[in-house]
Amino acid sequence: MSKGSSIKTIEELSALLGPGGWIDGESDDAAQYLTDWSGAFTGKAIGIARPTNVAEVQAVLKLAKKESLGVIPQGGHTGLVGGGTPFNEGNVIVLSLKRMNKIRKIDPANYTLVVEAGAILQEVQEAAVAHDRFFPLSLGAEGSCTIGGNLSTNAGGVNVIRYGNARELVLGLEVVLPDGEIWDGLRTLRKDNTGYHLKHLFLGAEGTLGVITAAALKLFPKPMRTAAAWVATPSVKDALAVLEIARNETGDSIETSELITRRVVDVVVSQMDGVRDPMPDTSPFYILMEASTTRKAETGETPQSMLENALAQAIETGHATDAIIAQSDQQRTDFWKIRESSPEAMRRLGKPRITWDVTLPISDLPDFYAAAEKRMAEVAPDVTFQGFGHMGDGNLHYAAYGDRVREIKSLLDKTLYDLVADFEGSFSAEHGIGQKRTEELERYKSPVEYKLMQTLKNALDPDGRMNPGKVLHV
Ligand SMILES: Cc1cc2nc3c(=O)[nH]c(=O)nc-3n(C[C@H](O)[C@H](O)[C@H](O)COP(=O)(O)OP(=O)(O)OC[C@H]3O[C@@H](n4cnc5c(N)ncnc54)[C@H](O)[C@@H]3O)c2cc1C
Repeated sequence: MSKGSSIKTIEELSALLGPGGWIDGESDDAAQYLTDWSGAFTGKAIGIARPTNVAEVQAVLKLAKKESLGVIPQGGHTGLVGGGTPFNEGNVIVLSLKRMNKIRKIDPANYTLVVEAGAILQEVQEAAVAHDRFFPLSLGAEGSCTIGGNLSTNAGGVNVIRYGNARELVLGLEVVLPDGEIWDGLRTLRKDNTGYHLKHLFLGAEGTLGVITAAALKLFPKPMRTAAAWVATPSVKDALAVLEIARNETGDSIETSELITRRVVDVVVSQMDGVRDPMPDTSPFYILMEASTTRKAETGETPQSMLENALAQAIETGHATDAIIAQSDQQRTDFWKIRESSPEAMRRLGKPRITWDVTLPISDLPDFYAAAEKRMAEVAPDVTFQGFGHMGDGNLHYAAYGDRVREIKSLLDKTLYDLVADFEGSFSAEHGIGQKRTEELERYKSPVEYKLMQTLKNALDPDGRMNPGKVLHV
């Protein structure tokens, strides 16, 4: 794009989007859109477009097409793989959906909610509760991330064991395609077998195939009572046994099962204010577990009594060494503070680190965990290595700390990912590919699968302008 046309384009965009709708890429206000939450990814853009409705998104995409500009959709910018952050070339517009944040419709009888892409996840959860319903997607960044970002990354979080990940919570989408055409697929039907289910193309596509502008989401009955437990367990194998006992004993009402290591607890307690260690002992692992019921009447067994029975059994059989069941909302919040603030605590620790987000068949977790510890120690004995996370759905977040981690990153990546592949797992469980894992996608997907993805990308975005360079090397 020539300088003359760039000035004209910027003027056109500013006029089109009105006051507050355009931020120049060089201005201070642009900084938050150009560097991600973790500070690991930063780049340049001509500017930030901030539309307030779907017609404005359409107009931006049409203009971008005319001027051959890349477009990077962005929500809360909390993604952990650099998907919403531009590269350094600068010939792109960041398209922030944050001002498109209305809840368009809640239909409690249909158990659905239609919302614009820029709505903050926590606000969507609250809107559902206000209508006596439940939207179960829940993750540490829920106060900042947006529904559009959640769906575009197919976010997971802490309730996947019971409700599935973001993809499974969507009935329909409204999408603006790379050429500016609008696809209105905002249906709220539970059954709709009328050809290809196009919504799945855009869910998890990380903004590379189009811009999600609104979504029809599934709602659920609201949990009426929830019990939370903090359980000490000697090994990953025992942790899985505790989960199995709990699922059986609670009539499968377990919603959450997070594995947390002693090391993670220590880091969180040392770095974060107002965090209490629920069980200051030396157990190597803990499980944060929750059970809930949607039953209104307070009769029969409660989540609390069911968890008590389950955990007594787990202790009797030696799979758990101790357990605390939260006796108040405050105690439950204290448990969650440890888990939810672990990414921030690790960031504050300030040590060179790399993180991974892998998933395995749940039954293979113990063997995988042991093999990963052994192999990582062999290739990098001076590196501290730890794994924790959403054990209930097979997802582990690993982190490695040490002065040399960045130097030997490729070796560590390859060691862990090869092992994941040996166990038929995935190198990206819930964070996606973004700009961080494009090489792994090419290496670990079969050539057929990778080519199919390229075919889809070329069909929908033949100019390669939607989030260029993310997910695929086209
Ligand atoms: C403390 C913390 C905890 C986290 N915990 C979890 C967790 O438990 N589980 C989990 O899955 N993730 C987790 N994440 C990662 C992150 O919060 C999720 O990936 C979230 O879904 C991103 O939403 P966002 O609105 O911030 O998206 P962004 O970061 O803005 O964008 C993410 C990707 O989606 C694309 N995108 C955004 N909006 C749209 C749109 N409307 N249309 C098309 N493409 C779009 C972007 O281009 C980018 O590729 C965590 C992050 C943090 C900081």
